[in-house]
Amino acid sequence: MKVGFIGLGNMGKPMALNLLAAGHQVKGFDTAAINAEGIPIATSATDAASEIDILITMLPNGTILQAVAEMVLPVMPKDAVLLDCSTVDVDSARLVASISEANNIIPLDAPVSGGVGGAMAGTLTFMVGGPKIGFEKATPLFKIMGQKAVLCGPSGNGQAAKICNNMILGATMIVTCEAFAMADKLGLERQSMFDVVSTSSGYSWSMNAYCPAPGIGPSAPSDNNYTPGFDSELMVKDLRLSQHAAEMIDADTPMGKLALELYEQFVFEENGKGRDFSAMLPRFEKRSRS
Ligand code: NAD
Repeated sequence: MKVGFIGLGNMGKPMALNLLAAGHQVKGFDTAAINAEGIPIATSATDAASEIDILITMLPNGTILQAVAEMVLPVMPKDAVLLDCSTVDVDSARLVASISEANNIIPLDAPVSGGVGGAMAGTLTFMVGGPKIGFEKATPLFKIMGQKAVLCGPSGNGQAAKICNNMILGATMIVTCEAFAMADKLGLERQSMFDVVSTSSGYSWSMNAYCPAPGIGPSAPSDNNYTPGFDSELMVKDLRLSQHAAEMIDADTPMGKLALELYEQFVFEENGKGRDFSAMLPRFEKRSRS
């Protein structure tokens, strides 16, 4: 397929490289000066979007996505797919979908889970909103860039799935970390705690697959001095998106709200920026109730 790829950052570049390696014709574009590592670079966003079957965007936020979409949609071939893999607010995703349809372009919002490691390994999970025909057209690319793609319903539902998932993740990681710090004070060995919880009703992805305690469970950022992995700042972004959506639709999300407050405090007041989101554990180790 002929693929345009706008946004060749930490995630976009390895995704584009995997498509290129699989034999697709890729034209990339980024406003920053990047080392493209062999990805053919277009002269502009509109150049990247012309004469393609699918345009993929992997951008920082909804405002930038909207600006890029408004620029490129008029030059995209009729019935091409605009596949946005960025994490953005549900409203931006739905707005971009409606402008796309007005330009006879098939919109898909398809945020990902799996981080930079998943992007490099081609093992991302795509949560997709939009028309089934677009999903079918994009499926060969999902199979190269990821291990799973789930069609979650109409436009915006991919972003809805992503923010619900990450709200669960943020809250679960916090409670896993506070439980480890409490276990320390109770004199319970971390390995014993892991052995019990990972096979009991308190288990979760945060405990079993991404254990915040160094040296326990499978290899994770905690074993590498909490080098991200998934940066705490990105968790703040996703929790903010979840709380923005909750306000828009009047959903009661007390755990999500508190998770956001704690991650904001960690990132902006406690040097959590640039640390993995599981570094909540050393944070709790240092604290008392007061
Ligand atoms: P990044 O900042 O590394 O990459 C974004 C790229 O977009 C940058 O290279 C930037 O120069 C480029 N860009 C910005 N404005 C542009 C424009 N107008 N035209 C063209 N290029 C432009 O970010 P990332 O880590 O690659 O994340 C991208 C998206 O994926 C974000 O929405 C993020 O929330 C999401 N995400 C990231 C991760 C992760 O672990 N990094 C995991 C899941 C989802």
